[in-house]
Order: sequence, then structure tokens, then C-alpha cells
Amino acid sequence: MARVYNFSAGPSVLPEKVLKTAADEMFDYKGSGQSVMEMSHRSKVYDSIIKEAESLLREIMNIPDNYKVLFLQGGAWSQFSMIPMNLMTKSGKADYVVTGQWANKAQQEASRYGEVNVVASSKDKTFNYIPKLDPSKFTKDADYFHICINNTIYGTCYHELPDTGDVPLVGDISSCICSEPIDVTKFGLLYAGAQKNLAPAGVTIVIVREDLIGNAMDFTPTMYNYKTHADNDSMFNTPPCYTIYVMKLVLEWIKNDIGGLEKMKERNIKKANILYDFLDNSKMFRGTVVKEDRSLMNVPFVTDSEELNTKFIKEAEANGFVNLKGHRSVGGMRASIYNAMPIEGVEKLVEFMRKFEEENS
Ligand SMILES: *Cc1c(COP(=O)(O)O)cnc(C)c1O
Repeated sequence: MARVYNFSAGPSVLPEKVLKTAADEMFDYKGSGQSVMEMSHRSKVYDSIIKEAESLLREIMNIPDNYKVLFLQGGAWSQFSMIPMNLMTKSGKADYVVTGQWANKAQQEASRYGEVNVVASSKDKTFNYIPKLDPSKFTKDADYFHICINNTIYGTCYHELPDTGDVPLVGDISSCICSEPIDVTKFGLLYAGAQKNLAPAGVTIVIVREDLIGNAMDFTPTMYNYKTHADNDSMFNTPPCYTIYVMKLVLEWIKNDIGGLEKMKERNIKKANILYDFLDNSKMFRGTVVKEDRSLMNVPFVTDSEELNTKFIKEAEANGFVNLKGHRSVGGMRASIYNAMPIEGVEKLVEFMRKFEEENS
């Protein structure tokens, strides 16, 4: 069976090479006589997999030694509470910028543990832009400042980071991790569910500066304390072994086949521009996001007619372009074009859109 072009927002497309390697190694991982799915996480052979995954991520993202890399479970969602339980412990205050549903959920969850100050929001325009920030509204003694860097549902992205001074910046990078270089030193903590850009669902990556570990609130459950996982190299309990293995394969692909994050970024810009250029010139389709805040990863677009949107999604699917329906809160369409989406997939989608426009206008 031919593979489709999968524009799902997550879980999402993985590099074909990775899927093939995983298939080849399914029965017998490198002469161990076992599948990675079956291995003890305490075995030597598995230990080399998780160590290699961490060292590849450190190398690719250029993560300094004073940051811990944790492989956790519970999704980005569990970080919405894990972050305040571990970090909101000095003044008990934190600043949040609300740029969409995920940022809003993060803010709501944090407000159960302390005082949350919403510095800015772009809700007034269905989150189609990144709000300009007024530093005079920042909380001087906040324990941290939280932003969602790439807004998966709305297709916006920060292209410049806020300057929060000594207040640790915390970033949700679930839908943009490893899509381009990021200066980790600008952050106290970064987190991402892996199922958008790095792996199948099941692992959540937390990159946290060491001085922010070890101050959790007294009632913090053992599993929600960063220290538990930092002290045990993400092996306190059974980690999501197979997902971490696939993530390792994806990281090898980024390093060896793509050539690192600078190259990944070039490729992602080229890919996104094919689609944005078409949208900017089309008479039927248009992007929904303010130009300077556009995401390289998630591209929402609409026509002026609900009927045409529905027809487009249906015909696209019949032609092998799947999961293009927009999030229910935005409507229309959304093409998620993560790292693993080949350039050819976007070229063919645009070709199909051009044809659809001709046939329906
Ligand atoms: C998908 C997503 C989440 C939620 O991730 P889960 O792993 O399902 O908990 C949070 N933040 C962003 C930016 C996302 O894209």
C-alpha cells in the first residue's frame, strides 16, 4: 500500500528511514535476540539506547552541562502542573503569556498552586498573533515566566524571546522541538511532548537548569518531583522504552541525514515558504495568521466558504493528503509540516490546492 502525506498535528509523520530501521530491528535488536519492546529497562543493551538518546539530544540542541535532560511520561499536559509544583516555590508567583489553548491550560493549571499573572493574551483575535509584551507588567519577583513558543492549534510562533532578566524563562516547545536551533541558555526550563516532532507518543522531554531542581512543594507526588528523575537518570521507574528508542532513531536522522538543526531550519523554511507563498497569492485560500508571527510547523488556512472547506478536506483525503482538518476552535484547514514531512509532500499539496482552486472558481 502506498503511504499518504500525513499532515496530522500530532501524533504525526515520522521519517520513513526511521520506520524502516525500527521494522528491521523489530525481532532482533542488534543481535540481542529481542525486540526493544521486550527488553528489561535495566539491561545493558537498553541502557546504551537511553544514554545514546540523551547524548544525541544534548549534542543536537547544544544543551549545556548544567542542565538535566529528563525523559518523563504524562505528556506536556502533566508539565502544566509539574512546573508550578517544582518552581513556584519562592514568591509563589509566575507570569504567563496566553497565546492559545495550550498556554491557557498551562496558566489555569498553575493557578491551582500559586498566584498567576497573565501578562498578555491574543485571545481577542482568536490567537492569530503573538502579543507585544510590556515589561512593566512583568512580576519582578516571579518564580518563572511561561511561554508557549509554537502554538500548534493557531499556527503562531515566537521569533524573538521576551527578556525576563533574572526570572527563569519556561518554554513549551512541544510542536517545535528540534525544528530549528534554540538557545537553551536563555531558559530555565524547556519541555515537549515528543509526538509532534521527535517520536511516537509516550515520552515527554524536560530540559531543566540544575539550580531549579530540588525545591518542590512538600505535597509534590514522588513522580512529579524533578529531583526523583534527575537523581535516577530518568530510570526511577520504567521509562517509555520503545518510544525513547524511536526518538533515538529520529535524532540520528536529524544528525546524520539532515546535518543538524541549522540545516533542519533551512529545510523547514523552504518547505513552509512553498505553502505560504501559495496562500499569499491564492484568490481562494488564505492563511489565518499575522505574517510576522507565522509558524514553520503548523499552517492554518481557510477559504471564505464552509462548504468549500469541507469539499477541499474530503477531496484532499481521497487524493492521499490526510489530516488537513483544522482544529475545531479555528475551523478550516491546518497543514502540520513537521520535520519529517518531506518537501515533496508540501509541493504536491500545493499542486493539489492549485488544481482545486481552478476547478472550483
Ligand atoms: C500537543 C501539545 C500539548 C499537549 O501535549 P500532550 O502530550 O498531549 O499532553 C501541549 N502544548 C503544546 C504546544 C502542544 O502542541
